[in-house]
Amino acid sequence: MEMQKPIPVIQPWTKEFWKATKQGKLLVQHCKDCNANIFFPKKVCPKCWSENLTWIESSGKAVVYTYTAMLDMVEPKFMGDLPYVIAMVDLEEGIRMTTRIVNCNQDDIKIGMNVEVVFEEVSPECSLPVFQPADESLRLASPDQGDDTAVAAEPEKGMSPENYQTILYEIGGICGGECTITLNRPDKYNAINRQMAAELIDAFRRVRNEPSIGVVVLAGAGGKAFCTGGDLEIFPSLAEHQNSLNWLSHEGLDVQRAITSCEKVVICKINGHCLAGGLEIALACDLIYARESAKMGTTEINMGILPGWGGTARLPRSMPIFRAREIIFSGRKDYTAKEMYDMGLLTRVFKDEDFESEFEKVVKNIAAKKPIALRMGKEVMARSADGCDMETALAVERNGIQWLTYSPDIQAVMDQFRASPDKLTQQQKQQNIRSDVKK
Ligand SMILES: [Zn+2]
Repeated sequence: MEMQKPIPVIQPWTKEFWKATKQGKLLVQHCKDCNANIFFPKKVCPKCWSENLTWIESSGKAVVYTYTAMLDMVEPKFMGDLPYVIAMVDLEEGIRMTTRIVNCNQDDIKIGMNVEVVFEEVSPECSLPVFQPADESLRLASPDQGDDTAVAAEPEKGMSPENYQTILYEIGGICGGECTITLNRPDKYNAINRQMAAELIDAFRRVRNEPSIGVVVLAGAGGKAFCTGGDLEIFPSLAEHQNSLNWLSHEGLDVQRAITSCEKVVICKINGHCLAGGLEIALACDLIYARESAKMGTTEINMGILPGWGGTARLPRSMPIFRAREIIFSGRKDYTAKEMYDMGLLTRVFKDEDFESEFEKVVKNIAAKKPIALRMGKEVMARSADGCDMETALAVERNGIQWLTYSPDIQAVMDQFRASPDKLTQQQKQQNIRSDVKK
């Protein structure tokens, strides 16, 4: 297996240390003059400047001093490792090491927890010392067993696009850079039942793992409706109330969370009725395009409840609040998309007869951008729109830009720019880039 990540550079004075890691030993440098234990290996003792140094073997036992979980926003080569835990541990020999905690659930890691060293092979010359809980009951798998089967947050077991019953999942139907997920219960106005909720969650997790896809189109089949919300059949009798609460509060919310966390630009295509939970699902998308005549509204209040899949929270954040209140309190289901647009909701509406062609243009344009830039744009804008202060928002933005410029994708674009014909002056190259950007 080729190691894509940077591996330690072995120096003459660290050679012994790395050699030992291959034999499963953790060495600590020791100063014979002042008895200091030293880490990371050095040419001279940092306490007394003596060169009279030797090695002792560490017990490998340590205590977690502090740790942090990496969930996102890392150098692309480390993306496959997410999530992982970086920690500082205090070894029995009195030295502090920066390392990772492995083989356990993040929730089980505590400051002060006892850990012990294990080695992770990264090259023929060296292995990395990482730490696992000393308490065997907290370990997920013994590293000796080489268990590579554990995978995080994968699509539901046994579910796949071929056997979806209530949605369609199509890669590249419009231009190749997009995936279209279609709610496919046209006889029920694409109302969401439990099966559909589970399949939507599966589909959005699945598309997250498609690196070449930057855009997801969420649409409704049949032309009459995008979606009319939760299927009333799922709203239960009092006897089933406990389960219904679970459904109402969890599964519907999980669908919109699957949309907001899928790391693609999700474009909602509304070509018919978009009501109640259907509108709430739309509000979780990044862009909403609608046919002028599509009918919209939140009807929950007519049954004495409120939009509960994020709508009561999101609508006032998506448009002027006095208008959002009217939509929720009135329970009207006959707002046209044109009216909604005039009230400040929706990205854009197109005339009915132009809708399909105009929508396709939008998708083609956005799906042609670098998926990694779309993803980062979504992330940065979401954090910013969530109302963090300006300095934090700027820091998130700066982090995003730095992260992008490290991506091999973007480096390739820059290399191309650097390699372009020398006849052009630097100034002309800049102008070309600017005019490209304007296009
Ligand atoms: Zn010393």
